[in-house]
Amino acid sequence: CGIVGYIGKRDSQEVLIEGLKKLEYRGYDSAGVAVYTEGGLEIKKAKGRLAVLESELSDAPLNGTVGIGHTRWATHGKPSNENSHPHTDNSKKFSVVHNGIIENYISLKEELIAQGHTFVSETDTEVISHLIAELYEGDIVKAVQQAVKRMKGAFALGVLTEYEPDRLVAVRLASPLVVGVGEGENFIGSDIPAILEYTRNVYILNDGEMALLTREGVELMTIEGNFISREMFHVDWDL
Ligand code: GLU
Repeated sequence: CGIVGYIGKRDSQEVLIEGLKKLEYRGYDSAGVAVYTEGGLEIKKAKGRLAVLESELSDAPLNGTVGIGHTRWATHGKPSNENSHPHTDNSKKFSVVHNGIIENYISLKEELIAQGHTFVSETDTEVISHLIAELYEGDIVKAVQQAVKRMKGAFALGVLTEYEPDRLVAVRLASPLVVGVGEGENFIGSDIPAILEYTRNVYILNDGEMALLTREGVELMTIEGNFISREMFHVDWDL
């Protein structure tokens, strides 16, 4: 339901939680974050209010300057810790947050199980992280593009891999997503309020577009891989 992502210099868990708070109005049943820590990608997620996740994170912080966060409004699979996002794959090297629905997830799931993948949730979303892991050959942008070609439905995605800790990938297809541009830091959010505290310079993604974020910059492209140049949008209103 709500997505936030960060790559930069700040404590990412704080940016993610603050961003998710701004998206609470959309409604949700659970929340989670993935942060690239010294020990690799780590996920923490919890059913219930954001405050539950927040207190778990304050007891055992995930320290790192790259992360993705999510508030879930369950469509496939009951609200539970396992079904909360981010989702990962069997190698635990990939993390995905997803808004929307993957209509063909049952056939993708069967295919991935036949290829040796083991699923731990009842969600449609989990096929995405396994599919990206299956297609990954050293370039997360290409793997996401390949995966998206196989997926039918409505989605906005935030994707991280431990193999490329300086890159955050975002995709929009029929579910809103914006990219916030800062100095030495960049953001994604399913809505402007999620990132407005940090920047007023945003790119609004259109359907079929994706973004590659590093600390230094943002590249916009179509999901087919054609680069896009777009004027930055300056937000001149306040919350
Ligand atoms: N379909 C996904 C799920 O049920 C994502 C729902 C959402 O947009 O929060 O986990």
